[in-house]
Amino acid sequence: MDTSFFLAWVDEITRVVAAERDRLTELDAAIGDADHGANLDRGFTAVRAALAETTPASPGALLVLVGGTLIRKVGGASGPLYGTAFRQLGKTLGDAGEVSPAEFAAALEAAVDAVRRLGSAAEGDKTMVDALAPAVRALGAAAAEGAKAAEAFDAAARAAEEGAAATVPLQARKGRASYLGPRSVGHEDPGAASTALILGALRTVGAR
Ligand code: ADP
Ligand code: MG
Repeated sequence: MDTSFFLAWVDEITRVVAAERDRLTELDAAIGDADHGANLDRGFTAVRAALAETTPASPGALLVLVGGTLIRKVGGASGPLYGTAFRQLGKTLGDAGEVSPAEFAAALEAAVDAVRRLGSAAEGDKTMVDALAPAVRALGAAAAEGAKAAEAFDAAARAAEEGAAATVPLQARKGRASYLGPRSVGHEDPGAASTALILGALRTVGAR
């Protein structure tokens, strides 16, 4: 996978986030402050604007730019968390021009570790980590078995979707939703839902 592959991923994320903006906002209306869809849409629109100005030389440079833009443009909890994830993903890939599924899996693991360090959320706390962590495990397992990108990304996307769905019965222990205590039960976590979209976009681009 080269820089143009990751550019296509970012384009697909931007498209899907815009299309699902209202659903993400509704999820956040139930257990947060109804801005998650708008936050991510603003962030990825800014990413597209930044990419209209410069073409990064490598996948790593591209993903660092995505992360930095999200940190600057997306407020709330999710901006710094997703921003840190993309920056770490990019930093771990370094300046390689071509990335294998196994290298991407290792970089995504580093990205999720950075999210855990920043937000101190563990799996089961009803956050984006509940979608990210199983996706990383599925991707790592597929890559270790020598799976091709399309297959590995499909496994990761499915694990993220299952992880997001599994947040419904949980009580939030981190972020704004945790203020609701037991009333946070019965709703999907918006950040886990957006993580499933981001990995779903990777599957879409990987299948082309
Ligand atoms: P805010 O909660 O500040 O309004 P958003 O609505 O954009 O920010 O994002 C909310 C999402 O951020 C939550 O659904 C959750 O997935 C994620 N989140 C919040 N706090 C944390 C945390 N400490 N660690 C991991 N993810 C978190
Ligand atoms: Mg919110």
